[in-house]
Amino acid sequence: MQEEFRDDAVQYFDAIVVGAGLAGICAVYKLREMGVSVRALEAGGGVGGTWYHNRYPGARCDIESLDYSYSFSNELQQEWHWSERYAGQPEILRYINHVADRFDLRKDIQLNTRVTQARFDETRERWVFSTDTGETFSAKYAVMATGVLSVAQVPSMKGLEDFKGEWFHTGDWPRQEVQVQGKRVGVIGTGSSATQLIPLVAKNAGHLYVFQRTPNYTMPAQNHSMKPEVEKEWKANYPERRKFAWASGFGHNQVSNHLSGKEMSPDERLAELENRWQLGGLYMMRAFKDILIDPEVNEAAAEFVRDKIRSTVHDKATAEALAPRNLYIGTKRLCSGTNYYETFNRENVSLVNVQEKPIDCVTAHGLRLAGGKEYELDILIFATGFDAMTGAMNKINPVGRNGLPLRQAWAAGPRTYLGLCVAGFPNMFVITGPGSPSVFSNMVTSIEQHVEWIANCISHMRSQGLSAIEPTAQAQDEWTDHVTDAASKTLYAQSRNSWFHGANIPGKPVVFMPYVGGVGNYYRKITQVAESGYVGFNLSTARMPS
Ligand SMILES: Cc1cc2nc3c(=O)[nH]c(=O)nc-3n(C[C@H](O)[C@H](O)[C@H](O)COP(=O)(O)OP(=O)(O)OC[C@H]3O[C@@H](n4cnc5c(N)ncnc54)[C@H](O)[C@@H]3O)c2cc1C
Repeated sequence: MQEEFRDDAVQYFDAIVVGAGLAGICAVYKLREMGVSVRALEAGGGVGGTWYHNRYPGARCDIESLDYSYSFSNELQQEWHWSERYAGQPEILRYINHVADRFDLRKDIQLNTRVTQARFDETRERWVFSTDTGETFSAKYAVMATGVLSVAQVPSMKGLEDFKGEWFHTGDWPRQEVQVQGKRVGVIGTGSSATQLIPLVAKNAGHLYVFQRTPNYTMPAQNHSMKPEVEKEWKANYPERRKFAWASGFGHNQVSNHLSGKEMSPDERLAELENRWQLGGLYMMRAFKDILIDPEVNEAAAEFVRDKIRSTVHDKATAEALAPRNLYIGTKRLCSGTNYYETFNRENVSLVNVQEKPIDCVTAHGLRLAGGKEYELDILIFATGFDAMTGAMNKINPVGRNGLPLRQAWAAGPRTYLGLCVAGFPNMFVITGPGSPSVFSNMVTSIEQHVEWIANCISHMRSQGLSAIEPTAQAQDEWTDHVTDAASKTLYAQSRNSWFHGANIPGKPVVFMPYVGGVGNYYRKITQVAESGYVGFNLSTARMPS
């Protein structure tokens, strides 16, 4: 057999995993277990991804922790104790670090290493990675666990460089505590991170100004300490609960009402909405089976929440400004917070409407709005979200067959087959990529489903002596059409001004990116594709030994 040329300056592995968040950690565990030599390259100084970078006060998950956790080890899920219904960032980060230690994964994870380039070497059928540490890695398989909410979006703002105070983005929060005591603080944005952060900052700040362009709906999280009887029941029934989550619409155990809002009387409808409000968080989105399909049903839920806002916020004008109009509830990521609306009753909190008078510029001492009104600030916090779903992949801009860069392949919006692979990019797997349920699901479920699929695929390739797998352009086109078609049957298609569509990033194509067909249906589809011999993929046999 022909000997493969090996360059001493290059580090060789079967698989390179890019990123060491929940996805990267899971991939390292699984691939190593099946004897694949693997190295994860992580830009951050620690493992954890989202939970390493988003250290802002109040950061916590909005899927119950007993659900938002790995299922791959029964010992792990039995021995870990979550202290709250929805764990806060420090606890989730402790959990991820525990997983890395418990399964001895750190030896295969290289921190402080950003992948700057990835290129498919067609002759050797291997991926070549360059990093900001000056190293080069070569691998048969590229597993992209780069995260869908990992590229913080700081809007380009005139004058930011002149600001004499401190400024931060929630998604890139410093490790040391940010001192807000007695200070004038401005928060730009009123999405998920903002609604978690605002009540806590308000408690300590001298004055807090919330600059709001578009209000969103915020549910009370109804967070509390973990109830021992709940934990006991989950631990006794974990296999069934995980199975339920994997087959469900959204990858978790939240119970859905299977009735249409129209099948219920107005009183029954109201009672169900009140029940969902008391359950808290994202439960509202499972109030009726057609809440995201029927405008009238959606409006009933939206008006219910507006009424809650009106009855909570004392100042009438502030309440009206906080109540979303012309926005179907749930079509922008629903927020889940604690005392969010109550916070606007505090003397030291002001809501500033920047829809009417947009922010003109940052000055040395604060923010100036169109028309000239200026707000003096010591600290400016950007809760302005992420370049979602495609940001991290586009930044690396992998180069596939025939020198095709990913940004070019995705110029009109991301195209994938099954949300897992891209035509022209052989042996590259994207975890929770566009075209998969991703941000529409309990992400840990989706991550585990993808890692299982990728591991099975690599196993199949090894047993069959295959060197490359790549979707056909036709399969990719059909899948991308299917993703668009699934969204077009919902109210998402009518609410294009959201990060689900990429609308928060200037110049980004406005295309609906996640797959709304349901986690369970999706899992069945991707499993069938694998079981039927990878229909829609081109499989090639080895040209060179690897
Ligand atoms: C504040 C917040 C709360 C959330 N809450 C929930 C929730 O309750 N439920 C839920 O399901 N989801 C939630 N999410 C989504 C969350 O992102 C996922 O649940 C999950 O953590 C994603 O894991 P991941 O490993 O795929 O990506 P990430 O956790 O984003 O990890 C990706 C890693 O890749 C690294 N990386 C990226 N590019 C490179 C590169 N070029 N080179 C090297 N490393 C790179 C990044 O540094 C990062 O550490 C939340 C997100 C945020 C921001």
